[in-house]
Amino acid sequence: MRTGTLGEIGSVVIKVGTSSITKDDFQVDSEFMDSVARQVKWIRSRGMEAIVVTSGAIGIGLDAMKVRPKPNEVPIRQAAASVGQSILMQKWTESFDKVGLKVAQVLLTYDFYSERVRYLNVRNTLNTLLEHGVVPIINENDAVCIKEIEAVFGDNDTLSAMVSSKLDSDLLIILSDVDGLYDRNPKLHADASLISEVHAIDEHIESFAGRPTTTKGVGGMRTKIQAARICNMAGCHMVIANHSIDDVIIRVLQGEELGTLFVADGEVRRIRTRWILLAHSNGTIDVDKGACEALTERHLGLLPSGVRDVEGVFKRGDVVDIRCDGRVFAKGITDYDHDELRKVKGAHTNRIESILGYKNYDNVVKGGNIALLH
Ligand code: GLU
Repeated sequence: MRTGTLGEIGSVVIKVGTSSITKDDFQVDSEFMDSVARQVKWIRSRGMEAIVVTSGAIGIGLDAMKVRPKPNEVPIRQAAASVGQSILMQKWTESFDKVGLKVAQVLLTYDFYSERVRYLNVRNTLNTLLEHGVVPIINENDAVCIKEIEAVFGDNDTLSAMVSSKLDSDLLIILSDVDGLYDRNPKLHADASLISEVHAIDEHIESFAGRPTTTKGVGGMRTKIQAARICNMAGCHMVIANHSIDDVIIRVLQGEELGTLFVADGEVRRIRTRWILLAHSNGTIDVDKGACEALTERHLGLLPSGVRDVEGVFKRGDVVDIRCDGRVFAKGITDYDHDELRKVKGAHTNRIESILGYKNYDNVVKGGNIALLH
């Protein structure tokens, strides 16, 4: 199990490639999309956040327009992306509707990563969507941006890593038609072996990159390793796993050793944890035994149902002590102020909105914002 390596996961970005979303000839695989929606629902019910980065717009659009462009023909692909994107979103909306979740389309260009004002706008939008329980579905805005091109277009591996890094996500899961990173191309070498964990992305690891893995998507192992590099520097773990494994997202989150895990730079994660541990606490949240176990054993976030009492005066975003049976065992960044917490303490998550008239997050303190005292 990888639970120890993964540590506390508060937010997950899930990247689904073109080859995952479409079957032969770019027909949309609704069953697969339904399963992603169901697993995102599971993630949210555990108090974590999820963002989806989707590919497939170009492929679906080409199929709808019944055109077959030449390898480097750009305008028709941009046009196809515009056609395909709305079909893609329609499909995501249908899948998430089935599990009672709303989705939002967010189209990004790569400059959100380098231009601060754009980045702040994107972050505000995404955080507000998450606060309202909406699942952001991100794609590159192919109609206006053809940067970061592997063959012609961006592959979304890099985009998903940039999103994960900029939003301080704890884990990026890249679903693909490959099982993970192999030491040799498994399609050419029968004895190639899957690498379960990568701790340092060095030349040796890069030498396994090879060429794109599929004719449908544009990404290959090379862009996935680049993505892992971005995540690593941001203190975000990354897993490449095969989309055809049942409940793959849930099982990765439960620590099952599937695909390849690129372990985040522990130092970056430690700096964040250390920051929380050393920050001044503005109050204390007293929790019951169940919550204490969920935080320490299962590395989950703190739900209001586990809160017994609240001491002190604090704002949303402040650091607080978390105590059980008279012992402070953790510190965390709270998403509710002292007054809100007093009102929702002991209540089930689905009552937060009726009590307060709004909801910040399901969690009172997100898993990724909790540092355990040892
Ligand atoms: N933005 C492209 C699309 O949605 C990504 C292409 C890909 O990753 O395959 O079609």
